[in-house]
Amino acid sequence: MGERREKYSCPNHNCKQYGTKSGHFYRREGQFITQWNHQPVPRYVCKECGKKFSSHSFRSTYQQKKPHLNRVIYELYCSGMTQRRIAKQLRCNLKTVVRKFLFMAAEARLAHEAFLKRKAFSMSEIQFDEMESFEHTRLKPLSLALAVSGDGRHILDARIGVLNYKGRLAGLARRRYGLRKDTSREARAGVWKTALDMAAPSGVKIITDAKPQYATEIARRFKDYKNYHHLAVPNRRNLLQYAQNPLRRKNSNDPLFWLNHVAARLRHDLSRMMRKVWTTTKRKDRLEAHLSLFLAYYNGYVI
Ligand SMILES: [Zn+2]
Repeated sequence: MGERREKYSCPNHNCKQYGTKSGHFYRREGQFITQWNHQPVPRYVCKECGKKFSSHSFRSTYQQKKPHLNRVIYELYCSGMTQRRIAKQLRCNLKTVVRKFLFMAAEARLAHEAFLKRKAFSMSEIQFDEMESFEHTRLKPLSLALAVSGDGRHILDARIGVLNYKGRLAGLARRRYGLRKDTSREARAGVWKTALDMAAPSGVKIITDAKPQYATEIARRFKDYKNYHHLAVPNRRNLLQYAQNPLRRKNSNDPLFWLNHVAARLRHDLSRMMRKVWTTTKRKDRLEAHLSLFLAYYNGYVI
């Protein structure tokens, strides 16, 4: 490449050249060899303050020793593999996998925010439902509020809320872990907000199941938008026609098809969401990070 000058600015916050992209404030001074692919990278020095830097100083992968693993860890962790198995396969340390997973999840979150900000898509149909999981132990349930575009091409939002203790284990859980604040409503509110932002001005059809709470919440959130139509799909187990004619139980013509599809993908592609396995979520924030990652993977963001 020779002495081709890139447009850099000094990385030193206290330098006059910080943030300017004049391109002529630095000179070349030596080079270093990357550990992972043994390529020489030229070093530069700022003539103003003497700060040394290279082209890698400005990358999001700055100071990473194995940047080539980012992409493959991202893909494997959205394809049903566990963190331990990825480490084994790539012959790297488990801590490397965790660190790279969190790095890629942050990048994925930025990509999704940019996607939402662009408003490149105005949705004429949005499907919504909630899934359940847990953190640490089955005694501590979580809810996952999920919105998918009507054509199934994008996950619009996925948020985790804490669920109150429930079922047979509720008494034991309360004794063992004390009070548990239910935040599933806040998670849903966040998803409704995204849905409202993404709704087409010409009108939107929102499909959910028949939980009465959803109708109230949609009515409140879409109050000023007005141009919406809420379709509450009745629970199919309660429908006599399905009981009488088993052939009609197939999910053809299921209005919530894409939502159920994504839910099934989540159960299959995220190791921690699989049912009846050893892999479980230990921490809620890591589940959130994993979801951000999958969302970027599903929506096909370049990160
Ligand atoms: Zn400088």
